[in-house]
Amino acid sequence: MGLGGIPGLLRVERLPSGGLGLGALVTLSALAREPQIRSLYPMLSEAAAAAASPQIRAMGTLGGNLLLNTRCCYYNQSGAWRSSLPVCLKAGGDTCNAIGGGRKCFAIFSGDLAPSLLTLGAQVQVTSPRGERALAVAELYTGDGVRPLALEPDELLTGVELPAPSEGAYSRYFKYRTRGSLEFPFASVAALIDVDRSTCLCREARIAIGAISSKPFLLDGLSDLLRGKSLVEPLIEEAADLAWRQSKPVENIAGVSARQRRRMVRVFVRRALSEASGRARTQEEA
Ligand SMILES: Cc1cc2nc3c(=O)[nH]c(=O)nc-3n(C[C@H](O)[C@H](O)[C@H](O)COP(=O)(O)OP(=O)(O)OC[C@H]3O[C@@H](n4cnc5c(N)ncnc54)[C@H](O)[C@@H]3O)c2cc1C
Repeated sequence: MGLGGIPGLLRVERLPSGGLGLGALVTLSALAREPQIRSLYPMLSEAAAAAASPQIRAMGTLGGNLLLNTRCCYYNQSGAWRSSLPVCLKAGGDTCNAIGGGRKCFAIFSGDLAPSLLTLGAQVQVTSPRGERALAVAELYTGDGVRPLALEPDELLTGVELPAPSEGAYSRYFKYRTRGSLEFPFASVAALIDVDRSTCLCREARIAIGAISSKPFLLDGLSDLLRGKSLVEPLIEEAADLAWRQSKPVENIAGVSARQRRRMVRVFVRRALSEASGRARTQEEA
């Protein structure tokens, strides 16, 4: 039986907190074009518009996208192809073919929506025969490529709650891919940067990195580095270095090296901070 008949799963509603409540069955194309999301959370509509193809976005849902399985160029292959290599951890074996050994599976979580929801500090609602619970998007992902989701098999994701938007903050999603059309991200960056328009000093900066590891993650220490400071060149470079140090992809996407994916994280973080800074200065002058 489908989930379509369950009331509330298609909701897009303003919450008393000022945030937005989204049902799990809202499609990616609806997220991309919904006016409230475009104006309040631009990075989320950009991420939805960048996912997959128009046909898939018309069918693919918010819930399904958040709960995608992890991918790896050594795993997403036919049985015949895989039989030429040792059985990998994700296929029930005891090695990782991407790094040639080890006990950890590095399959990548490649959903386009999760980094933005992580940056925005969203929560997901989950229901099961035991009742309902809410968990932060950060807690939804385990970081284990074999079992990437912290949900039980009988749990249904019913919706997502976004906190009240940061008025006027810079909000953008960057997706690294080699084709402009249908392609999972090779690396992605979701940036929310709040710069005071009168002083041009950074109030807060939250950036999540996606598609380079088994879970999307927030850059650690970024706000501490930038808060209260002017986003000028040496500091932007320092922040881009911080992102580069915390990003450690392995060679598990065909056609693009881990080195290049890591480099693109640095490029996007630098670009986000430069754009946020430039925009605040333009507004201050106007
Ligand atoms: C060729 C191709 C290219 C793609 N490219 C991209 C891309 O570039 N970026 C991107 O982000 N995504 C991409 N996707 C994924 C796509 O955008 C959809 O997000 C994805 O297919 C999920 O679709 P769905 O909503 O039908 O979920 P399903 O495929 O039906 O579900 C995905 C998983 O989540 C479970 N599930 C779904 N909804 C719920 C729920 N409410 N509660 C509990 N469990 C649930 C399902 O049981 C399943 O295990 C691509 C998919 C394809 C086929």
